[in-house]
Amino acid sequence: MSQLRISVWPGTPVEVPAVPSVETAEVNVPGILDLVPGGPDRQLPPEFFLRELFELGLDDESLADACSAVGLLCPQDTKYVEVLPYVSWADFDLLPSDPREAPPSSTLYAEMARLTVRVARALVDHWAVHTSTMRRKQAAIVHAWRLRGFNQPESVEEAWTLWSDYLNAALRPFHVRVSTGQGTAHAVVPTVYSCVALQLANAVNDGLPPHECANETCQRRFIRQSGDSGTQHVRSRGVIYCSMSCARAQNNREYRRRQRKKGPKA
Ligand SMILES: [Zn+2]
Repeated sequence: MSQLRISVWPGTPVEVPAVPSVETAEVNVPGILDLVPGGPDRQLPPEFFLRELFELGLDDESLADACSAVGLLCPQDTKYVEVLPYVSWADFDLLPSDPREAPPSSTLYAEMARLTVRVARALVDHWAVHTSTMRRKQAAIVHAWRLRGFNQPESVEEAWTLWSDYLNAALRPFHVRVSTGQGTAHAVVPTVYSCVALQLANAVNDGLPPHECANETCQRRFIRQSGDSGTQHVRSRGVIYCSMSCARAQNNREYRRRQRKKGPKA
């Protein structure tokens, strides 16, 4: 494959909107999350797509907890078909057999939420491999999809097609549009999934590759080191730890190792 260059339109960072909050999310029937919306919309942490996304559990209860903690994970209604290419209604066991029978507005199908988390992780992994300096990069890009439980693409070209198709579809809520306040039939609600896609597109546009934290017990990916407040991301270049606390932890560990090497003082 010739040298690949990713372009992002419009070529400037797009502000990531807030996601609708979920007051409570419960699993009363396996596979179905019962949501009670409520509270002000909330912003995802600035590097959610690299950090917290990879810590979410994928069982029903964990997905319900994630909705309560960060907001609506993915579309609840038939609009999910628009944001997930390569996925058809029939792929989901629990959905009503007729797509026109929209699920109740208080429902989120766990299977769908799980799938969006897996797709989002594959998109980020694929891009992180692409920006890395590792050897055998093309094989690793293809493998990134398999690692998240998808059929392994047959070629790196096919993997890039998946990457751009999934990412572009997830970015649909942010296309140029107008609103008159008259009727809301066509309103598109941003979700955690679409905002993760936007965070990724912004990072691609910035051209800053993610680093892996050098704290050996962390190793999380990050771009900008977070300050002690945990939310303010400050520096990106020449930084090897994801946070100040990781820098301190690793420095202390290495200090203790050096002391042990010197042996007990006589
Ligand atoms: Zn770290």
